[in-house]
Amino acid sequence: MHDDHVAAAGPTGRATHGEPVPGQRSRRRLTVVSGPSGVGKSSVVGELRRLDPDVYFSVSVTTRPARPDEVDGEHYHFIDRAMFDKMVRAGELLEHAEFAGNCYGTPREPVERALAEGRPAVLEIELQGARQVRAAMPDARLVMLMPPSWEELVGRLTGRGTEEEAAVEARLAEAERELAAAGEFDARVVNADVTEAARQLLDLMNTDFS
Ligand code: 5GP
Repeated sequence: MHDDHVAAAGPTGRATHGEPVPGQRSRRRLTVVSGPSGVGKSSVVGELRRLDPDVYFSVSVTTRPARPDEVDGEHYHFIDRAMFDKMVRAGELLEHAEFAGNCYGTPREPVERALAEGRPAVLEIELQGARQVRAAMPDARLVMLMPPSWEELVGRLTGRGTEEEAAVEARLAEAERELAAAGEFDARVVNADVTEAARQLLDLMNTDFS
């Protein structure tokens, strides 16, 4: 089984999983960040990018239409279903999943290239994809980002205003399923404060658990 680490990030909180042990750093690691929609994955991953520019952040393909503030090739590669299916058939995706009616997948080649170059890589993906990565790459570290509370998550999701009501419902149902799987992850980080959560994530990426 995997070691079990919980890191509770609060506005004033310190990581509870301990400091990285000198000499036990492994930078060629693939880290998967999952967590329910609305938990703040993008903000935390954005802060992580600022804290450590050496990290490679995967850009997924998706069949979801772009939101107004999203840039093709930066937030996602926006593709149609035919292209998505073609990539799946060609084995070009490291993992892929359907989420709330749209398809998402991680292009394999850029991630493998980053790891081969010795760069740590981060995937921000949902639960089914995280499970596929675990099966395909057992060394990957899986971290679940948790909301401070369920009520807070509902508030963040309904307040976002980018989604139709039905889509919000679908995302809440997915959120419940994702949080129920938190025990499958190597570590959990509570996102009460974005900077603190990003720091804890970086600590987890740089720490060997064994
Ligand atoms: P959103 O539509 O809000 O950008 O993303 C919906 C969900 O899909 C989020 O949980 C996000 O992390 C996840 N996701 C984004 N890219 C991928 C991917 O490449 N693979 C998988 N499995 N999930 C992804």
